[in-house]
Amino acid sequence: MTTPAYKRVLLKLSGEALMGDDAYGINRATIERMVADVAEISKLGVELAIVIGGGNIFRGVAPGAQGMDRATADYMGMLATVMNSLALADAMRQAGLTARVMSAIGIEQVVEPYVRPKALQYLEEGKIVVFAAGTGNPFFTTDTAAALRGSEIGAQIVLKATKVDGVYTADPKKDPSATRYQSISFDEAIAKHLQVMDATAFALCRDQKLPIKVFSIVKPGALKSVVMGDDEGTLVHV
Ligand code: UDP
Repeated sequence: MTTPAYKRVLLKLSGEALMGDDAYGINRATIERMVADVAEISKLGVELAIVIGGGNIFRGVAPGAQGMDRATADYMGMLATVMNSLALADAMRQAGLTARVMSAIGIEQVVEPYVRPKALQYLEEGKIVVFAAGTGNPFFTTDTAAALRGSEIGAQIVLKATKVDGVYTADPKKDPSATRYQSISFDEAIAKHLQVMDATAFALCRDQKLPIKVFSIVKPGALKSVVMGDDEGTLVHV
């Protein structure tokens, strides 16, 4: 079958996913490969919104921010997500995709502000929307931004791209007998103390009955498999 399992999805990419094997920043080959994956699902007609993190550039709770006022450090983190969003949108443009970046904090000379009806219009027009600056509030994360924007745009699922190909019974790096969950309920994940997204993001998805799919960003073709509804990664369901 060639019909995607979802009509509208919210893809959460961590900033670190842009680093590739580098220690920080944006790796050109990595971002281009990521955009190729995105292009594949966009061609399937899936409406796609992306929230990208900023951890490859700045993290509010990182050692580099020690001694800083937390809110100030978090605003720097949000600005880092704007840089990543611009880089991602530009790479998409070069690949022939049409993307729009919308920021949760006002920096109109650089990026247009987030306005929900406009974001919905862009999605309906088949444009890829990149939500920059997280939630626009300190003390939150881009995981929470993904849950929030995913809920707002009526996404059918949040696709959380990670370095690991799903949620495991234990840390696969420490315990070789760990196995991947094909699917798990929100309640089961809580009872088993499994870390899927940060607690605020997880609670919001659970309240909104918005499923999460955890899958590998490094595995070629994984994003397409997820969108096609294949057994890829771990589905967290209500
Ligand atoms: N951040 C924030 N509010 C938000 C989203 C992000 O304050 O709504 C800040 C926070 O300092 C965080 C940084 O931006 O550490 C980068 O975001 P995140 O850590 O979620 O990025 P990722 O780990 O996905 O790369």
